[in-house]
Amino acid sequence: MRRLEAAGLADRCVRVAPRTAEVDEVRRIHSDTYGAYLASRSSGWLDQDTYLGPGSLRTALFAAGSATEVATRVLASAQDNGFAVVRPPGHHAGRDHAGGFCLLNNVAIAAAACQARGARVAIVDIDAHHGNGTQDLFYSNPDVLFVSTHQHPFYPFSGRANEYGQGDGRGMNLNVPLRGGTTTADYMTQWQRFVLPFVGGFQPDIILLSAGFDAHRLDPEAELELESADYGVLVRDLLKLQPRLAAVLEGGYHREATAESAEYLLRGLLDP
Ligand SMILES: [Zn+2]
Repeated sequence: MRRLEAAGLADRCVRVAPRTAEVDEVRRIHSDTYGAYLASRSSGWLDQDTYLGPGSLRTALFAAGSATEVATRVLASAQDNGFAVVRPPGHHAGRDHAGGFCLLNNVAIAAAACQARGARVAIVDIDAHHGNGTQDLFYSNPDVLFVSTHQHPFYPFSGRANEYGQGDGRGMNLNVPLRGGTTTADYMTQWQRFVLPFVGGFQPDIILLSAGFDAHRLDPEAELELESADYGVLVRDLLKLQPRLAAVLEGGYHREATAESAEYLLRGLLDP
């Protein structure tokens, strides 16, 4: 946020006040059993990566609620877009479980709120890790398209190219696994060949972008080699398919690279 403010970009945005997610919004995605489990824990490890502290659930509810608020405002608009700058991330959280620093699946809760308003939703996940939680939640859902580019094989070890979706959702899931060391040129080839036609063919009413910045070449958690400026290219490509787009922050563990990448993303949103 300091970076976006210093670059003069925050002043060009409408600030949306953070809000907590409503119980009914969370229940579209997470089970009551899981909600009760989270509420019953005061602190401790939920898995080997994911630590819950005294303020974590409250913060996660703010992240999910704020992502939902931005997404539903964008959906209700003629052609606005937005960026929910939230933590913790969400895309590894499933119906009944936390995972990979994620407690509540922010982008999934936002997508379900849009679907409840009758929208066809495309979720594009550009985090370096596969969005396994999001994929699983919509794997049989024909109204929510999911596409993920990610390093593979790599945590969480799902996200193979043959995971297409099932039942009514068959053909609505696309994974683009990438070898460690994949550079901008190779990434963009896959992006143009697979991701853009898949999203465009679905004709979504809104695109939700799981905007992780850990595919940046400086990120210590992954081995993809994207540059900060690439995020501006990616978001502009998506805006050509559907101007109503809400980005939701996911991972990103090199602070300067994450901030710089977010700046490029926001420049793309402001000047498509
Ligand atoms: Zn990640």
